[in-house]
Amino acid sequence: MVDIIVIGGGASGMMAALTAAQDTENRITLLERQARVGRKLLSTGNGRCNLTNTEAGMERYHGGTDFAGYALSAFTPEDTLEFFEGLGLLTSREYGGRVYPRSNQANSVVDVLRFALEHPNIRVLTGCAAEGVQWLTDGFAVSCAGERLRADKLIVACGGCAGTKHGGVMDGYKILSALGHSRTPLYPALTQVRTDAAYPRALKGVRANCRVTLRKGNRVLEEKSGELLFTDTGVSGTVIFELSRAAACGGEGLELSMNFLPDMGEQAVLEHLRARRRRSPSLPANQILTGALHNRLGQMLCKYAGVSGELTASQLGGAQLQALAAACLCFSLRVTGVSGFESAQVTAGGIRTQEFVPETLESRLVPGLFACGEVLDVDGDCGGYNLQWAWSSGRLAGRLGK
Ligand SMILES: Cc1cc2nc3c(=O)[nH]c(=O)nc-3n(C[C@H](O)[C@H](O)[C@H](O)COP(=O)(O)OP(=O)(O)OC[C@H]3O[C@@H](n4cnc5c(N)ncnc54)[C@H](O)[C@@H]3O)c2cc1C
Repeated sequence: MVDIIVIGGGASGMMAALTAAQDTENRITLLERQARVGRKLLSTGNGRCNLTNTEAGMERYHGGTDFAGYALSAFTPEDTLEFFEGLGLLTSREYGGRVYPRSNQANSVVDVLRFALEHPNIRVLTGCAAEGVQWLTDGFAVSCAGERLRADKLIVACGGCAGTKHGGVMDGYKILSALGHSRTPLYPALTQVRTDAAYPRALKGVRANCRVTLRKGNRVLEEKSGELLFTDTGVSGTVIFELSRAAACGGEGLELSMNFLPDMGEQAVLEHLRARRRRSPSLPANQILTGALHNRLGQMLCKYAGVSGELTASQLGGAQLQALAAACLCFSLRVTGVSGFESAQVTAGGIRTQEFVPETLESRLVPGLFACGEVLDVDGDCGGYNLQWAWSSGRLAGRLGK
């Protein structure tokens, strides 16, 4: 028999253990520091678990993307769906290729994995944190809850440090560093962006579909479209999550500008405002955007453009309409940072992928050592891409080089 230890009972670790168990020669011990496996998975997709994305393409990944390409093409989103269907999970596809369990419950995903782990060759030890790992001449020794477990091969699947309250920890980086590996700087990604708070705070809870540009001076770092949510410290929502990686890594002097009417040019917005002035001359000036945008947002943009509610629409001059149109198309906020790892969904950065073989995920430094999932320097966009990386890399690591 070959003894395998998998450290981490999250998405990639469970996939690695199940894959390794397909070889009846393997005897697998899965170690999970939390009281149950798949704890972070339960919180994914707002409790619905966006388990993959059928439109996954390499442009959706960051960090060691060349490295990740092999695993992602060897086990694709369609393979993921087939795998889960085999475990009894029914899924449904939603906008943008996002896939969720049909039950709309993340625990369906965790439960089918948990049941599959009830396998004669797999032993699951929960509440059992791997505290230290030693590389021996004939394998590995893992210390855990006062015991010393021995393995011929070791898979590190401890995840990243994002989502602290769902179990994100530094353990994986520490274990792999102690075995000679190195890592890139870590940044929180898929998270809220903090801005000068005066306008966002007043708009807290308001959602808007818009086009958002992240700039450093005159340079455009990133531009995305989608739903934005104002919070008391800045901005959130899917469009902001997608820009947050660039905001986290971009340093000082960043600015976000929002175009709330991205399908209308300046002339079309001006014509709308002129028509509004003509048809409703006695309307308070700060209501002139009512009907075009969320009421609170419209009023806030009037304030931003310097248009007072003490005027009526008929009293607005051409320059004021121009200023209002400009505010709708380019509402700018200074970026002061991003929310920390606690609320981030994923870690940008991680263990250097150059130190692993892309076709097997085996360490180039320590034979018999494998790593998968978020602990490696690979992260994806919002929309199921990170779990797809966890499934694909867990699948490949679980093959143990075969
Ligand atoms: C709130 C939230 C929502 C998310 N939503 C989505 C989504 O909808 N779609 C998507 O694709 N991605 C989503 N993600 C990201 C996704 O969950 C992760 O990228 C993915 O779970 C990473 O898989 P992993 O196996 O590498 O790590 P994890 O799933 O984090 O698993 C690592 C496991 O290792 C255990 N562990 C750590 N150290 C030790 C140790 N020393 N000994 C034993 N066990 C240890 C941890 O307790 C954990 O269970 C979300 C993340 C968060 C935080």
